[in-house]
Amino acid sequence: MIPYGRQDITQDDLDAVRDVLTSDFLTQGPRVPEFERVVATAVQAAHGVAANSATSALHAACMALGLGPGDWLWTVPNTFVASANVGIYCGAQVDFVDIDPDSFNMCPDALGTKLKQAEETGTLPKVLIPVHMTGQSADMERIGALAKRYGVRVIEDASHAIGAHFAGAPVGRCDHSDITVFSFHPVKIVTTAEGGVAVTQDAELAARMKRAVSHGITRDPDLMTHASDGPWYYQQIELGYNYRMTEVQAALGISQMQRLGRYVDCRAAHARAYDAALADIPVDLPQQDPRSRSSWHLYVIRLRLEQIGMTHREVFEALRAAGLGVNLHYIPVHTQPFWRQFGFAQGDFPNAESYYARAISIPLFATMTDAQREEVVSTLKATLT
Ligand SMILES: *Cc1c(COP(=O)(O)O)cnc(C)c1O
Repeated sequence: MIPYGRQDITQDDLDAVRDVLTSDFLTQGPRVPEFERVVATAVQAAHGVAANSATSALHAACMALGLGPGDWLWTVPNTFVASANVGIYCGAQVDFVDIDPDSFNMCPDALGTKLKQAEETGTLPKVLIPVHMTGQSADMERIGALAKRYGVRVIEDASHAIGAHFAGAPVGRCDHSDITVFSFHPVKIVTTAEGGVAVTQDAELAARMKRAVSHGITRDPDLMTHASDGPWYYQQIELGYNYRMTEVQAALGISQMQRLGRYVDCRAAHARAYDAALADIPVDLPQQDPRSRSSWHLYVIRLRLEQIGMTHREVFEALRAAGLGVNLHYIPVHTQPFWRQFGFAQGDFPNAESYYARAISIPLFATMTDAQREEVVSTLKATLT
């Protein structure tokens, strides 16, 4: 089976992890802040806050922006459930903005219309989470401008997009957002086994996220309600969680980050080869905004089912049976049983639903060989034509 994604663990990674395991610190030591600096520097952000997952980092980001009961969070329906769940964690209400059918990203026109309506009804969101689907940045110029006009804070869910660029800037520089979150789950571009990092240019937001991931505790005397009792002293000044990354994860991440550029280049080269090799089969290939340089987390084809004469599910099962570890990203979140309790129904977000009805993620990972890619191409051709 050729998987749709696969991590790459080298001898350097193994050495880095072994070094931590035989050192004095397994949790809070020098590597976590070093990893935070490595990630922040790579994306030209001033601050990085590591967490034990991107989900935790997204939650901490929402907390830092003050999201709470009575507030709304908006995201897209075609994402992993975590992008929406974090709103519920904060006690907020969640709604969705439909996607653009070509980029699979939040549609700025749909966002503009929805913001205008929400302003009239007094239900503007506090936080907006666009997702950089497949590694291609959403149109942050337009989304950021709309957010600014309506006073909405923005968290970029860049779980797919470390190493990507938009309009000449690395995703994570937060030119049009408050915070950007990256995931280091093994299926993503770079891994720490489980892990996430939130980056920002804002020192105050970084400090709040730091407290959110560590019990609401501070050691900063300026934030304490009274003078320190002594060198051991810390204060819990709000409610936080134990969302910290370990030294083991950070060491793996530091080692992996050295190969970020190479990984993205390999993925992009495979994507270009797919573009050429799959041009004549009955599928729609992923469209790229000319301002975007994707990190190519996923390569998603959309089946032209009427031409193929098979159902989506039949194609999916045939590809799996033929040895391709294809996958489907994502089941529209608003159609999940949990979300129906909030009144969402089939038909609410037609672009995300039509995407789901014919999308398939085909194998793409940095260490995929040309022979593996050619096998993917020939299997697709044999199945679909
Ligand atoms: C993977 C992913 C997440 C969650 O990341 P974890 O690190 O697994 O918590 C959130 N959003 C999107 C879009 C993802 O792909």
